[in-house]
Amino acid sequence: ETVLVGEFASQIGVPATQVIMSLMKMGIMANINQHIKYETAEKIAFEFDKLVEPLQKEEEKEDVVIKDDLEEDLLPRPPIVTVMGHVDHGKTSLLDAIRNTKVTAGEAGGITQHIGAYEVYVNNKKVVFLDTPGHEAFTQMRMRGAQVTDIAILVVAADDGIKPQTIEAISHAKAAGVPIIVAINKIDKEAANIERVRQELSDNGLLVEEWGGDIIDVPISAKKNQNIDKLLEMILLVAEMEELKANPNRPAVGTVVESNLDKGRGPVATVIVSNGTLKVGDPVIAGTAYGKIRALINDKGKRVKKAPPSTPVEILGLDEVPMAGDRFIVMQSDKAAKAIVEKRRIKSRDERLEASSKITLEDVFDKMQKGEIKELKIVLKADVQGSLEAIKQSLEKVSSEEVKVSVIHGSVGAITDSDVMLASASNAIVIGFNVRPSASVIALSDREQVNIRTYRIIYELIEDIEKAMKGMLDPEF
Ligand code: GDP
Repeated sequence: ETVLVGEFASQIGVPATQVIMSLMKMGIMANINQHIKYETAEKIAFEFDKLVEPLQKEEEKEDVVIKDDLEEDLLPRPPIVTVMGHVDHGKTSLLDAIRNTKVTAGEAGGITQHIGAYEVYVNNKKVVFLDTPGHEAFTQMRMRGAQVTDIAILVVAADDGIKPQTIEAISHAKAAGVPIIVAINKIDKEAANIERVRQELSDNGLLVEEWGGDIIDVPISAKKNQNIDKLLEMILLVAEMEELKANPNRPAVGTVVESNLDKGRGPVATVIVSNGTLKVGDPVIAGTAYGKIRALINDKGKRVKKAPPSTPVEILGLDEVPMAGDRFIVMQSDKAAKAIVEKRRIKSRDERLEASSKITLEDVFDKMQKGEIKELKIVLKADVQGSLEAIKQSLEKVSSEEVKVSVIHGSVGAITDSDVMLASASNAIVIGFNVRPSASVIALSDREQVNIRTYRIIYELIEDIEKAMKGMLDPEF
């Protein structure tokens, strides 16, 4: 839904130079031959007391239409699991332990290659693990509109308890609506205290089954290989409850989880097939890359001809390197693949010039009125626990009938990349109280169009949110 600046200007009868000036005031650098969003055009027209013609027809949002499956064509598919948690709590050790116990010598190939994900069999059922632990990769993908993970394993060291990144991971998984299984790790250590971990989990909104809640926890030792099987069984159990399904008999779609330019092989991408079956020879598009699948290589480094749902595979044959989080789609023909990608390449050039429609405190009211948002999501950072709690409580009280104010993540410390990524993926704003972002965090927030606001006085912070909800906030320069 875009309009050409030149056409738009003549449509509302305003000189193009004036339109361009107004765009500049909104921070959009565009010339007469560029497209701007319809919503942007509406705003500009309003400034000049003009009305834009309503959209002729609801244009297709996606350039490729992916048909829905019939219920009867759907079959169960393996779960895709991400391991998250604080640094040094044992994420890598857990991924290694699972790989080593489950990829038996009996399996052809035997040794796993690093392709960004691997699969294991548990009671003859497959489980897929993403090999990049941590919530950064997870959220980076969500920022690009992709969600690959079905289940999150939260690793908490029993001798260390819940730490800042544990809390971050909980917020990120919750924001994505992904079920959490807690692996209480390092139970072999003398200082291990499982009950304390459960207490801290409950303080952070995760009540484990033993305490009457619905969160499954499994005490393990990644190092001593204790209870790894139990953890895997719990993953299967949760997967069954999720009723994960896909249709293997259709052209494949999925997500790029890793990519690089290989000297010998050209652009290489690891994809996870979310639906359908990917085959050698298929014409595919991924972001602004396209090509014909020349080879499929599985996590054991073996060439395969097909990849059914939930399979991670390396693909060769793309003409450029796609980005992690890009969707890949098998097209009917090479020609169709090429045509779509050519359009996308032009569009992505245009879009780089256009500010995105992420939320800012200034336009909360506007978006509220249009019914575009029902919730103002906030990532809150503060210098001390006391003010964090006080602000959180006051903020949530500001909720009105139209809009709920919710703090999707709140913790003590500076504003970090991870906060900006969470806000970007969740369309939230970041508020800092007595804490500031570093220059590199500001740069990221500019790129991601994430609104960061910092305050030193609680009263002013709350007042700004109240004003924003009433459309009375003065713009910040
Ligand atoms: P990550 O940063 O979360 O990926 O953590 P690592 O897997 O790198 O583990 C950090 C450290 O904890 C390493 O020295 C591991 O050997 C150790 N570690 C991991 N799991 C266990 C465990 O179950 N028991 C003990 N004693 N040490 C562990």
